[in-house]
Amino acid sequence: MHRVKIIKEIFMDEHTITINNLCTSITVDIGIVKAVENVSFSIKKGEVFGLVGESGCGKTMTALSIMGLVPSPGRIVSGEIIFEGRDITRLNEKEMQDIRGNKIGMIFQEPMTALNPVLRIGEQIAETIKIHNNAGNMEIKDRVLRLLKQVGFDEPEKKFAQYPHQLSGGQRQRILIAIAISCNPLLLIADEPTTALDIATESQILSLLNGLIVEYGMSMLFITHNLHIIRKLAQNIGIMYAGRLIEKNNVEDFFSEPLHPYSRGLVDSIVGLSGKEKRLKTIPGFVPRLSEMPEGCKFHPRCNKVMPQCMINEPPMFTIGNEKWIKCFLYQG
Ligand code: SF4
Repeated sequence: MHRVKIIKEIFMDEHTITINNLCTSITVDIGIVKAVENVSFSIKKGEVFGLVGESGCGKTMTALSIMGLVPSPGRIVSGEIIFEGRDITRLNEKEMQDIRGNKIGMIFQEPMTALNPVLRIGEQIAETIKIHNNAGNMEIKDRVLRLLKQVGFDEPEKKFAQYPHQLSGGQRQRILIAIAISCNPLLLIADEPTTALDIATESQILSLLNGLIVEYGMSMLFITHNLHIIRKLAQNIGIMYAGRLIEKNNVEDFFSEPLHPYSRGLVDSIVGLSGKEKRLKTIPGFVPRLSEMPEGCKFHPRCNKVMPQCMINEPPMFTIGNEKWIKCFLYQG
C-alpha cells in the first residue's frame, strides 16, 4: 500500500502522460488473455521514453490502449491513463477523437500500408488538420507544405500532388511523421517506426524525430525491440516481458548496470552494448504465450537467478529511489 502511495505522488508532478496499473485483455476461444497487466509509467514534458520488449510482449497493445484503439475483442479492463488531468480510459469515442491525432499523434509500424493508396499525399495530411481545426483551405495547404518541408522534402508542392506508391519506404515514413505532428501534439507515439527501413533511412528518420522533439517540445513514447535506438534517443526506458513492465530505469544507468535478470540478458546478448563480453550470451528458452503463462514470475523458467518463491508468487514492483522500478524478488527489502 505504501509503495503504491509513493508511486502516485511521483506521478503528481508535471508529466505529459501517466499510466497507472493499466490492464488490457483480449477474449479468445480458450478464455481471456492478459495482453497488458498492471503496467505503470509516466512521461515528462519533452522526454523520450523508450518502451522495449520482444514481439508479443504488450508494447503495441499499451500504445493502442493510450490511443483508445484496442481492437475488438480486446478492451481496457482496469487502470487509468491520465492525460491533461483526465483519465482518458473513461472518455467516449467522440471525446477520444478530439485527442487522437490532435493532442496525441501516432506513427504506426508499417509505412507501406498505413497510407491510403488512392489519396494524394497532401490531401492525407490535410485531412487530419481539417478534422481538428477550423482553418480555411489556403491556410491548411500552407500548413501542409510547411510540414512537408519540415520532414525533409525540398519540393513540397511536388510531394503534395503525389500518391503513396510514388514514394520510397523512408519517404512514406516521413509523410506519416508529418501527419502525426500536423496538429502539434503534446505526445507522439512512435511504434517501431523504423523496423521496415534500411539502416541509412532509419538513421535519417531517427535524426528527424529527434529534431522535431526538440523543436516542438513534445514528449515521445518510442516503442521498439532495438536497444541501440533507445540508447541514442531516449532518456528513460521501460522493459516489457509477457505483458508486464519489469524494469523502469534511466537510460544511462540501464546500459551501465541493467537490474532485472531479463534486462541483463538483453544487454549481454546484443553486439556492442555490454562492452564486456567477447562472446555474446543468449537468454535460454522462449517468451511464454499469453495463453500459457507460468505461475509466479513469468520469467522464472528462463531466469538464472530463480529462487523457490519465484515459481509460486509473482513479484511486485520494487522501487530504488524515485526513478527505478524492478519487478523481481532479488530487490525485495
Ligand atoms: Fe528471476 Fe525470481 Fe527475479 Fe523472476 S523474480 S526475475 S525468477 S530472480
